Amino acid sequence: MSANKKMSLTAKILIGMFAGMVIGAILNPLNVDGSIVQVVFIEGLFRIMGDAFISTLMMLVVPLVFFSLVVGTCSLSDPASLGRLGGKAVGLYLVTTAIAISIALSVAIMVKPGSSAALQAPEVGEFSAREAPGFVDVLLDMVPRNPINAMAEGNMLQIIVFALLFGIAMALVGKPGERLKGIFEDINSVIMKLVMLLMLVAPYGVFALMARVFGELGWGDVLQGLAMYFFTVFAVLIFHGFVMYPLILSALTRLNPKIFLKKMLSTQLFAFTISSSNATIPVTLKTTRERLGVDNSVGSFTVPLGATINMDGTAIMQGVATVFIAQIYGIELTAMQYLVVIGTATLASIGTAGVPGVGLIMLAMVLQQVGLPVEGIALILGVDRLLDMTRTAVNITGDAMVTTVIGKSEGKFDESVYNDPEAGNDGKL
Ligand code: ASP
Repeated sequence: MSANKKMSLTAKILIGMFAGMVIGAILNPLNVDGSIVQVVFIEGLFRIMGDAFISTLMMLVVPLVFFSLVVGTCSLSDPASLGRLGGKAVGLYLVTTAIAISIALSVAIMVKPGSSAALQAPEVGEFSAREAPGFVDVLLDMVPRNPINAMAEGNMLQIIVFALLFGIAMALVGKPGERLKGIFEDINSVIMKLVMLLMLVAPYGVFALMARVFGELGWGDVLQGLAMYFFTVFAVLIFHGFVMYPLILSALTRLNPKIFLKKMLSTQLFAFTISSSNATIPVTLKTTRERLGVDNSVGSFTVPLGATINMDGTAIMQGVATVFIAQIYGIELTAMQYLVVIGTATLASIGTAGVPGVGLIMLAMVLQQVGLPVEGIALILGVDRLLDMTRTAVNITGDAMVTTVIGKSEGKFDESVYNDPEAGNDGKL
């Protein structure tokens, strides 16, 4: 066997990622309008490879969520466990998000990222944020009038509700349900195989995506007074992902958190590169199932749910950004306003899809709730790309952590798989 064959997929993705960063950074100064570098590489080759890779991954999300969740639901022996599972998932997702944003606010208040004199507050104008949807609307919007439409739009919460109901009915109907379950399981296996095949080209896709991002990145923004903001968000993200999650995991499950982090690495790299919790669902699901040992009946529900409603990394950015923008405008926030920020950011993450850059749209809602000028977002736009990538990696780590905790507490967990370093590591992931 050649050395290349033995290399793990994680190593290959890492190499693709760094090679992309280096090539992108080298091409960056040459990437001017109409140049060969821009037309042939950045907007040509890299864009084709990168976008095709993301599209293929996205292509699998809806069918995978639907089929695996239907199969998962109808394998749950008692329907009451479904309610318990949902309650635990939503509860844990909300609590971890509230913890994340509280840490972010505390650190930002101490570090004062907005005290740099180099920054000018953008003028307050007509720019207005989208209204935060009311709780009742969010609940009502979860029930799809047309499931095909929900799938076409990739509305994850609606797909989850439809799949749950479909799965329950399948379990109740007897023989036809059993027959259908076999077929759905087969379709599920085929889609998982597709995920695995896609993994084989992942290093190239990751390379192209990184080369494009770094080829387009404006480094000047990072240096002009935004360094403090950038590094504060970054540091809190790393702390939450690599200290808080392992702590919560070991406190709630007594599992060795080092194994969790090690097995999550390739999934984190994926999320980092493609900046979308949603597009990462197939990979997160494969990891929780095959590498962490969580049963499909739990993961098929909690992973897509988490990708939709659990965004700890995003909440961290919003916490720091709120303090930063308040400081830039010289506005002192009260303790009550900080509580409002925690509440709004936690609730705003529900119902907002895990796609690139959506965190900034949600930030506008948070700012508006506490009466801060939404225009302040213009300041941090330039450095958001890299932070978006990092927070997405944190977001999906939270989904997998909560999934593991729930799997263990529900007895839907195979500890021998979790502890086996080779489990699910068929050289493909
Ligand atoms: N890109 C993030 C995600 O998909 C959301 C965000 O913070 O913009 O999880």
